[in-house]
Amino acid sequence: MEPKVYIDGQFVSKKEAKVSVFDHGFLYGDGVFEGIRSYKGKILELDAHVRRLYESAKSIRLEIPLTQEQMTDAIKESLRINGLNDSYLRVIITRGVGYLGLSPWKTSHPSVIIIVDQIELYPAELYQKGLELITCATIRNHPAALSPRIKSLNYLNNILAKIEAIDAGAQEGIMMNHEGHVAECTGDNIFIVRSGTLLTPPTSAGILEGVTRDIVIELAGKANIPFKEETLTRHDLFVADECFLTGTAAEVIPATKIDGRVVGTGQVGPITRQLIDAFHKRTGR
Ligand code: PMP
Repeated sequence: MEPKVYIDGQFVSKKEAKVSVFDHGFLYGDGVFEGIRSYKGKILELDAHVRRLYESAKSIRLEIPLTQEQMTDAIKESLRINGLNDSYLRVIITRGVGYLGLSPWKTSHPSVIIIVDQIELYPAELYQKGLELITCATIRNHPAALSPRIKSLNYLNNILAKIEAIDAGAQEGIMMNHEGHVAECTGDNIFIVRSGTLLTPPTSAGILEGVTRDIVIELAGKANIPFKEETLTRHDLFVADECFLTGTAAEVIPATKIDGRVVGTGQVGPITRQLIDAFHKRTGR
């Protein structure tokens, strides 16, 4: 079936789904977005994604022309119309069509776009073998410049780090914050296990508050796995027993090498395995 893209209340074909070159989302990355997953027709943590979308928008003074309830309905309707059970949904809010100047107040109205598609971020074998990571020279945006908690349309910071990782022959890059502490990966949050305790940087480290991160923290709690949000250094990564990343698209994926150091035994560790299994149970996969 021809995919249908929601643009400002209308469903149009993929071919017709176009935005203006004067849209400030295109010109300046002025906008916010969400990546959401559906499994067997059920949307995972829709409320959390909608909440974060509206928080990101509020932070950049972007008024979404739908209530949160209307947005929830539009997302569900987009999924239904596309007839996909297992899908990846991208919700994009741009500042809208304006002129060639920065002022967001000279744009007509914000645009709401919902794309329903599929995504495979990493080949299946890497979920068994684990990713190879590097730590990047490019630091995460300083939270006082552009808060990483805003899921904005400007991903250049992350893209520059991703280029470093790919250049180094790794699959992902770990970004430090302005203080030299571990923040997150270019499109995922990071966890390590040390002596049986699950650790992840706090949101104050300057990270996106990942929805999958929250799910994993909840699953760890239910499984009585000791957990702490803790400031982490490169050294903590190098001596970790286990490491994995979380994200809507990547789900929960192990990492077995960081900057040439083998993580733990080099195999996917028992706590990572347990959390991956619990995550699959949760999504019904
Ligand atoms: N950090 C960044 C920078 C991201 O872009 C994402 C989303 N891809 C995540 C973390 C993970 O967030 P979530 O689990 O909500 O997808």
